[in-house]
Amino acid sequence: MATFLRLRHLGATAAAVAVLSGGSYAALRDPSVAANDRGGPALDAFRRKIADPSAIVPSRAVQESALIGASSDNPLDILVIGGGATGSGVALDAATRGLRVGLVEREDFSSGTSSRSTKLIHGGVRYLEKAVFNLDYGQLKLVFHALEERKQIIENAPHLCHALPCMTPCFSWFEAVYYWMGLKLYDLVAGPRLLHLSRYYSAQESVELFPTLARKGKDRNLKGTVVYYDGQMNDSRLNVGLACTAALAGAAVLNHAEVISFLKDEASERIIGAHIRDNLSGREFDTYAKVVVNAAGPFCDSVRKLADKDAKPMICPSSGVHIVLPDYYSPEGMGSMVGENSCWYYGFQHDHYIAARTTRG
Ligand SMILES: Cc1cc2nc3c(=O)[nH]c(=O)nc-3n(C[C@H](O)[C@H](O)[C@H](O)COP(=O)(O)OP(=O)(O)OC[C@H]3O[C@@H](n4cnc5c(N)ncnc54)[C@H](O)[C@@H]3O)c2cc1C
Repeated sequence: MATFLRLRHLGATAAAVAVLSGGSYAALRDPSVAANDRGGPALDAFRRKIADPSAIVPSRAVQESALIGASSDNPLDILVIGGGATGSGVALDAATRGLRVGLVEREDFSSGTSSRSTKLIHGGVRYLEKAVFNLDYGQLKLVFHALEERKQIIENAPHLCHALPCMTPCFSWFEAVYYWMGLKLYDLVAGPRLLHLSRYYSAQESVELFPTLARKGKDRNLKGTVVYYDGQMNDSRLNVGLACTAALAGAAVLNHAEVISFLKDEASERIIGAHIRDNLSGREFDTYAKVVVNAAGPFCDSVRKLADKDAKPMICPSSGVHIVLPDYYSPEGMGSMVGENSCWYYGFQHDHYIAARTTRG
């Protein structure tokens, strides 16, 4: 997510529609940018490169030879393992700081968790509830951060992200006041990052907007709804956009390329690179890097075990379930959100189906 704040300076993920063909890797790298550079002419040059409609992402062969060309004498600055949202974001951030970056993804970009999200760009409404009830400043800071990121993502990739109204049904007047006040507070906290103001709709107005909405709860009638706004994204295309933009910024980005073992310095046992298999051609090669970033998401323990077979697992998977429903369960352009006892249900239309999801806390 922090990538998007940095991308404020870049202003686009224009490469989202680019294909891996043509162009040159070496020409896109600009060694004059320091790793801690936060802006200036070099970043402006990257921005122009990325915004150029004729810019083409280098071909697979060029990307692979850039990885193979990283030797022990001339290593990459960073090798990123995993082409999900995290790895692609890391690669883009590092490449725009002028670092020499490689990224390998064993399947396709976004084939892991990053294409299976609920596709929400949360502004952190759930954290706001915790911040208020637990008087927790840390949670409030999380809300500010999430709101800023939400704004940046939508500004940077308006072709893949948009504001989405979410309806919260209220089956008692207490709920109506509670949600109205809570969501007005959310508007207030959002300040200039606000997408649209939240508002209350009567029961009659609500069923006109959302015809499949239940008019009766267990033993109560619908009193009305509060509609607030969050962001929605096309998660997998956004991920591919990040990976392609990283490639335009000079990273050597290769999908269907799996890290199968690590290269270690014999004396110090330090990891100095990786042995990679191209899963399309079956070809194996080495690439060297000063730093290796494990961005393998839920698979990161298996990558850690490649480095140390005795590594203790550090991932504790949590469950999230999507129930896929036909699109007529929810109107186009309106999501729903219901929270009870720290358990939240979301329902959103995406590509002509409804993804309904429950989550805890
Ligand atoms: C049910 C659910 C709903 C969610 N909803 C939202 C939401 O609405 N909004 C939101 O912002 N977030 C949401 N999230 C969180 C978000 O999806 C994840 O935080 C994000 O996708 C994690 O991305 P990642 O890159 O870390 O992992 P992944 O996308 O899983 O990427 C890891 C990649 O590493 C690759 N890999 C593994 N081993 C190797 C290897 N040896 N060599 C090369 N590559 C390797 C894998 O193939 C994989 O593609 C949700 C998560 C879940 C589970």
